[in-house]
Amino acid sequence: MSNCRTCNNPIEAFMTLGHMPFANGFLSPEQYDQEYFFDLDPAFCSKCGTFQIVEQPNPEKMFHENYVFFTRTSKHMVEHYGRYANWVQETWLDDEDASFVVEIGSNDGALLENFATQGIKHLGVEPSGNVADVARSHGVSTLTSFFGEDSAKEVLREHGPADAIMAANVMCHIPDLHGVAKGVCTLLKKKGVLIFEDPYLGEMVERTSYDQIYSDHVYIFSAGAVRSIFEPHGLELIDVLPQITHGGSMRYVFARKGERSVSSNVGKLLSHEDELGLSNPATFDRFKSNCETSREQLVSLLQRFKQEGKRVIGYGASAKSTTVLNYCQIGPDLIEFISDTTPIKQGKYSPGMHIPVRPYSEFKENYPDVALMFTWNHSVEILENEAEFIQSGGQWIVYVPKVRIF
Ligand SMILES: [Zn+2]
Repeated sequence: MSNCRTCNNPIEAFMTLGHMPFANGFLSPEQYDQEYFFDLDPAFCSKCGTFQIVEQPNPEKMFHENYVFFTRTSKHMVEHYGRYANWVQETWLDDEDASFVVEIGSNDGALLENFATQGIKHLGVEPSGNVADVARSHGVSTLTSFFGEDSAKEVLREHGPADAIMAANVMCHIPDLHGVAKGVCTLLKKKGVLIFEDPYLGEMVERTSYDQIYSDHVYIFSAGAVRSIFEPHGLELIDVLPQITHGGSMRYVFARKGERSVSSNVGKLLSHEDELGLSNPATFDRFKSNCETSREQLVSLLQRFKQEGKRVIGYGASAKSTTVLNYCQIGPDLIEFISDTTPIKQGKYSPGMHIPVRPYSEFKENYPDVALMFTWNHSVEILENEAEFIQSGGQWIVYVPKVRIF
């Protein structure tokens, strides 16, 4: 038995995804004996409605000097951040010359660069040194730090209060959300807004996308959960906007209570969550059994291809792929290698299952019979770019929302 990270209510895992390494812990064979594993056990708090993983790997070990996730590697995400920035600017900044925007976990600056190029005062707060350096090289002011009450006070002292505090695919990585909320309350102007987007629990449950659950994602949020976490700090959920990114995300907007009007979207989404049963433990028992079915189908499909002597490779050494490979126990006997465009991962091996990661050119120059798409959340972009693979007789496997070949 453990306790909920946000309300301290006792919680218990409803399933296990097994012994899991860090999702982005790509490594070389000399590092195998030091590989870090933890139990990836999701739980649902029936009191505050927060979906979380019970054992939390040490964040300082994950967001370090050599963090391997760079937002800019996806053209699709860079475009998304361009639209996100425009929307923030048009909707929430009244006087751009006097505005100040802050981003929590600003990574390589892909979102803030849109403000920087227009001369809008901005600051990224990013704990990983190497990605922060990339952001600075793109003209994005960045403070290398975790975001919390202390860093918020420092920012307030040096730069003044913020009109908008933003985050994208970051809040779900932060165990101490009350620390974040205190930081937000310290730094936000009276009419300021907190805006963040993260993978959405409703989508994950409906589509059995269990690969959203991995070491970096301490939480998978619903509107009900974020409201119960931030409202005790005097922050009110005033809008919610579904996003297609990361296989189904939700953008949440908070303001100081009573300072901004509440959109009808909020009530509608909360009712939808009731219909989905997102506060009902039975929903998660069903999710567990859907995960098991998905695993059986994927493994038997890969075994069949192996028996038929087909070459199968993995496409995209994503963080998500770590959960799938380790939960399904898929290793180099079933997948020859994983192709990836990120130089820092190439020549390394996948966390836990130790499948080689090779440059994208090895996929492109010698097409396999079958490619397992781990980056299914970018499937539209991928199918567009890889039309030639299908024309050459190649087949794709996807596993969300169902295991299928096409
Ligand atoms: Zn709770």
